Amino acid sequence: KRREWRDAGMRLLGDCAEWFRQNMATPQARQAHDYLQSREIDADAVARFQLGYSPDSWDTLCQWAQRQGYSPDLLLATGMAVQKEGHKTIYDRFRGRLMFPIWDELGRVVGFSARVLDPAIKTSKYINSPESEFFQKGSILYAFNFARQSLKQFGHALVCEGQLDVIACHRAGLTHAIAAQGTAFTANHARLLKRSANEVVLAFDADTAGEKAAQRTVALLHGAGMSVSVVTLPQGEDPDSVFRKGGASALQQIMSNSQPAVPYLFQQSSAHHDLARPEGLSAVVNDVLAAIKPIEDAVIRTAHCQWLSQQVNLPERVLFDALQALR
Ligand code: ATP
Ligand code: MN
Ligand code: MN
Ligand code: MN
Repeated sequence: KRREWRDAGMRLLGDCAEWFRQNMATPQARQAHDYLQSREIDADAVARFQLGYSPDSWDTLCQWAQRQGYSPDLLLATGMAVQKEGHKTIYDRFRGRLMFPIWDELGRVVGFSARVLDPAIKTSKYINSPESEFFQKGSILYAFNFARQSLKQFGHALVCEGQLDVIACHRAGLTHAIAAQGTAFTANHARLLKRSANEVVLAFDADTAGEKAAQRTVALLHGAGMSVSVVTLPQGEDPDSVFRKGGASALQQIMSNSQPAVPYLFQQSSAHHDLARPEGLSAVVNDVLAAIKPIEDAVIRTAHCQWLSQQVNLPERVLFDALQALR
């Protein structure tokens, strides 16, 4: 029974992706086409990433799915429909948005990310499928199903923030790009990646959120036994905007210029603190040590500490003690 329910849910999600895709051919999808054009996303990318359109209506999807024999309960359980507190009627979660299907590592649709089309709307730019038995955001990496084969070839995974960043990378031939859909990379994501790659290159947005996320994610990946490098994009840019401004060659060029995580974090932190003051020095050292701390391999950890001690001109012993205090 449980098995049947799960299979039906997966089938519903796959059918919805196909339905959103077919909606692109309807007159109402004009806005979605205009939007894709404004973002310079070509038909090839639309087809490859199965982009679609959710009609701007309250229940078109619910009506259609129920005609296909899917129950309201299943529509709610998969997150495709929502129900107001204390009401019986259900309505479509995704309305008037550009739809990105999210796949699991086997390429089965497990959820959606949906972008607003009207640039004037500033609230909830993206809506995602809610957490459910079908969709766990913390263990799904966008496009991992496509990137898996490329990870061996490139020797590392290229981790971006968003779907459009991943799509830009793949268009530029960087088919090892994936995204955690936002900045909340988790230990589960790291475990999933570890099965296919030992090295990760982070290419987060060059803004405050992206920098903070890089710091957190480096520590997390270190804890999973990965070696990490970080790409610094031009200030205010993300991989998608780099691709649009400079094309494939600009994106490839920038992505090939990653810096090992520890020197990167040292440089970032030094830019925010005054190394000439003891307090600033302490802040920088602790920032960097926080990313070294989770590394299991004692030799690697020690090598990073030695490097840091040379940079800040402190005895190694002091850094080892500080690291011990953190551990
Ligand atoms: P765009 O280029 O369309 O503005 P983006 O990918 O650059 O999108 P960011 O703000 O950098 O958008 O966010 C990165 C990713 O985080 C998004 O692609 C999306 O997966 C996720 N995200 C962004 N905003 C939200 C939100 N309000 N709710 C849920 N997820 C979000
Ligand atoms: Mn961002
Ligand atoms: Mn972005
Ligand atoms: Mn963007």
